[in-house]
Amino acid sequence: MPLADINDRIAQATAKAGRPEGCVTLIAVSKVQPLSRVEAVLSQGHRSFGENKVQEAQGKWPDLRDRFGNVTLHLIGPLQTNKARAAVGLFDAIHSVDRPKLAQALARLAQEMGLCPDLFVQVNTGLEPQKAGVLPQDVDAFVAECRALDLPVMGLMCIPPDGQDASPHFAMLADMASRTGLSGLSMGMSGDFESAIAAGATHVRVGSAIFGERVPGSGVVG
Ligand SMILES: *Cc1c(COP(=O)(O)O)cnc(C)c1O
Repeated sequence: MPLADINDRIAQATAKAGRPEGCVTLIAVSKVQPLSRVEAVLSQGHRSFGENKVQEAQGKWPDLRDRFGNVTLHLIGPLQTNKARAAVGLFDAIHSVDRPKLAQALARLAQEMGLCPDLFVQVNTGLEPQKAGVLPQDVDAFVAECRALDLPVMGLMCIPPDGQDASPHFAMLADMASRTGLSGLSMGMSGDFESAIAAGATHVRVGSAIFGERVPGSGVVG
């Protein structure tokens, strides 16, 4: 679907929810997409992108940034502690902060490098054992821990379970954010970004609806 149509749908959902125009950031999720599709979206002026792997992002974005100028990059996939330094160097935001060890590593890097991406705490709202994220009952304590480390926590992020109505998960995340005094809500993907916006999403992460189906093997460049 053309980028302009996605932007229209976001604008309509935002208006319908009675929220201010422009309050939702579209993160175009470019993981495992052919480079030509990513370049096409950059050529249309879009400048906010999401990747789920540090290494894949390292392979393509330094060059794309050289060619297209400033791009805001969001890490939306799990982050291993040993890749935290590379992630801090490359990304403007990390949406997958989910454990004390990672928070501590990011705090040390922030001190040393004098910068830290905007951070979102990932919450496992579906209590799925295989999925990353802090459990709902641990969110308040973990957000407090991140704040005690002086980390710039901007909001919460969730990936609702496949094949379920996502709305209750979006509502739960919004509740937890307001309870902890966080204004950012990273939620909503290709199939459900409008209902995420209705529930208060500030960042929607949309991949296949913009770029088409992912093409295995396309992510690795160079
Ligand atoms: C891949 C991915 C998306 C985008 O998914 P689509 O269904 O293609 O829009 C969003 N969020 C996360 C965390 C992802 O890994």
